[in-house]
Amino acid sequence: MSYMIGIDLGTTSTKTVLFDAAGQNVASATVLYPLYQDVPDAAEEDPEEIFQAVISGLTTVMRKGHIRPDELAGVGLSAAMHSVILLDAADQPLTRVITWADNRAAAFADQLKARPDALELVQRTGVPIHPMSPLVKLMWLSATDPALVARAKHIVGIKDYILFRLFGQYVQDYSLANATGLFNLHTMTWDPQALQLAGVQAAQLPQLVDTDYQLRGLNPAYATVTGVPIDTPFIIGASDGTLSNLGVNALAPGVLAVTIGTSGAVRVVVDHPVVDPNGKLFTYYLAPHRWVVGGPVNNGGIVFRWVRDQLFAPEKLTADQLHLDPYSLLTEIAATVPAGANGLLFHPYLGGERAPLWNAAARGSFFGLTRQHTRAHMLRAALEGIVFNLYAVMLMIEGLTGRPTAIQATGGFARSDLWRQMLADIFEQDVTIPASFESSALGAAVVGMKALGLVDSLDAVGAMVGTTHVHHPDTSTFPTYRTLLPIWIRLGREMAGEYQALAEFQRTQPMEGD
Ligand code: ADP
Repeated sequence: MSYMIGIDLGTTSTKTVLFDAAGQNVASATVLYPLYQDVPDAAEEDPEEIFQAVISGLTTVMRKGHIRPDELAGVGLSAAMHSVILLDAADQPLTRVITWADNRAAAFADQLKARPDALELVQRTGVPIHPMSPLVKLMWLSATDPALVARAKHIVGIKDYILFRLFGQYVQDYSLANATGLFNLHTMTWDPQALQLAGVQAAQLPQLVDTDYQLRGLNPAYATVTGVPIDTPFIIGASDGTLSNLGVNALAPGVLAVTIGTSGAVRVVVDHPVVDPNGKLFTYYLAPHRWVVGGPVNNGGIVFRWVRDQLFAPEKLTADQLHLDPYSLLTEIAATVPAGANGLLFHPYLGGERAPLWNAAARGSFFGLTRQHTRAHMLRAALEGIVFNLYAVMLMIEGLTGRPTAIQATGGFARSDLWRQMLADIFEQDVTIPASFESSALGAAVVGMKALGLVDSLDAVGAMVGTTHVHHPDTSTFPTYRTLLPIWIRLGREMAGEYQALAEFQRTQPMEGD
């Protein structure tokens, strides 16, 4: 029997999972670490804490898995996109890990967007212009602390840093490189103009390698601690977003991966790098002839959490007292209102928005309120509004890559029967909930299996991922959603002109929690 470990380096935790050859979870470990937000708009991690999380995760699964060391075929890696660490000539970190959630470079994103060649840049890099991207972060660092950037012998991402600590070489996979905004996806090399904008040299960046690249010769000290043999191949893998498509079995043409967790995403795999001419979707490399096109959405389940806390605090208290899940109680209340919430519309932009708007000033709203509407209507409208917004992202993807034919959906929302059915009804598509959890770790393990010849193709994942629920669209809801969706979309466009002015006013009136 051979086993693979998948490691997913996430924003607030690292998940390490030991899979058997059939992709089944044998043992897993989650190690949490803080996201440091001690300066306004900052969101950083400590590289040492993440390294220790990897060591601890490997040690735990090797112990819990009860396998012989020679049964471990390899280790595959996944990591959150857009992270940046600067290191000096002695390989010591000069910064913490600046994560995708760090917003300090916002002004430089605006500056870049205003350039006449902005869309050409996105056409070459596949990354929408946003403070999340390392290109924009490096523009900010080069402008505000040029000495720091000059002192940086190495500018890497979190996965590259971990692999350096384990193997002593700086390499970056095409997939994560593709998410930096510095990588030209047509030439598969660093983009000279992007490097110039960022104020960095190619020599400061890691060597680029494909996602099936293998590292061997694990540092003996860590082999001893973890129980992972020295000669175990580590396969570099890809980014968490692209590997998640693989891990939920959304590889085939037209299969849309929809995630509604705290945030959300809509993604599809295509066989060549098509880039959105409007620069509002990303295009990220996964493997040869596999590119992931999609949009990340800020406002997913976090909006439901706000509704729970602000509109349904008494129900939450009751549910807590009865040891019931407050979200389950709330979705039962939402089910008492018909599809379309009797014409109450909700734009979910409580946290600004990335796709489909790419507007940090976007704000939420209820539209169409009457005296007859109740809190239950507001609740249902909020859940529908989150899905309408994902639908708007899907429309952009459809325009670029064709009509999706099926949906594989994951995230905390999938615990609700009502919400899953709503997704099928609004998208007018069958929705399948895969049984995979830790989809990025599974994706990393499968890339590893393919690299080692244990499976012939990444499509082997199809036999590994089971199904928990299937929903078919309820045609009786179509007339309602077909009437409301165009109004919802038009309304969003009309309001866009006012978001900025209102956000500026709100900035002058800071509230608790800001
Ligand atoms: P994360 O994005 O941190 O991985 P999850 O995927 O667990 O988080 O998603 C958390 C979100 O899932 C919550 O904010 C909530 O909106 C939603 N959620 C959790 N439980 C339920 C439930 N029983 N019914 C509907 N939605 C739920």
